[in-house]
Amino acid sequence: AIEITGLNKWYDQLHVLKDIDLTIRHGETVVVCGPSGSGKSTLIRCINALEPHQSGTIAVRGQIARSNREIRQLRQDVGMVFQQFNLFPHLTVLENLTLAPRMVRKSPEPEARERARHYLEKVRLADYGGSFPAQLSGGQQQRVAIARALCMDPAIMLFDEPTSALDPETIGEVLDTMIALSESGMTMVCVTHEMAFARRVADRVVFMDQGRIAADCSPERFFDRPDNERIRRFLSQVI
Ligand code: ATP
Ligand code: MG
Repeated sequence: AIEITGLNKWYDQLHVLKDIDLTIRHGETVVVCGPSGSGKSTLIRCINALEPHQSGTIAVRGQIARSNREIRQLRQDVGMVFQQFNLFPHLTVLENLTLAPRMVRKSPEPEARERARHYLEKVRLADYGGSFPAQLSGGQQQRVAIARALCMDPAIMLFDEPTSALDPETIGEVLDTMIALSESGMTMVCVTHEMAFARRVADRVVFMDQGRIAADCSPERFFDRPDNERIRRFLSQVI
């Protein structure tokens, strides 16, 4: 579903992604981890063209997005959930969920509401449609953010450290939502240091180090028989 070949990216002089080759197949859940500054967020942001890259290609569902129209289409196909939930504070949960479907996809209001209710139920927030974001816990807000992305009917979901800004007691409920989504067959790329999550649902773990993919292997291999000292050191810090 995502095919990245020979990807290089610089921020001015800083070479942040180096010769990245990565394929994410339909229905796979891939966990991306690695030290701070290794390029994880940049990689994720390149996939849905939030960041331009200087060489290489990124094909999503067989399409390389070049024109603005193609980039808009790409972003409809690829949902993204960030560390900061970025909900609109002055809109209710339901309005947050129906806004993009109405504006971008031109869904009629009743249809958008129906989808919103469906996904609110999926993230176990059926009773919160009339609440404002500030009335919800961090974990609840993040589940709203996930539901909001799902309302656009994406083929792929990208997550960038969705639990790292949350109180410890609400991390589990967000991970449970992501586990359910993974088990439903969604294609997912998750930047996370939640290693129990990786072990449970990842088809593959990609380890980034200094802008390169330093490992791309099964979770069993990654955790139980890590290839090198760099990974062992990383694991000793996050587990
Ligand atoms: P973290 O675990 O801290 O989130 P990361 O692996 O996500 O780190 P990136 O955010 O992708 O790392 O950053 C990779 C490198 O690019 C870092 O050296 C960072 O300082 C640099 N960088 C990131 N964003 C920008 C930007 N907008 N302009 C310039 N440099 C940037
Ligand atoms: Mg990051």
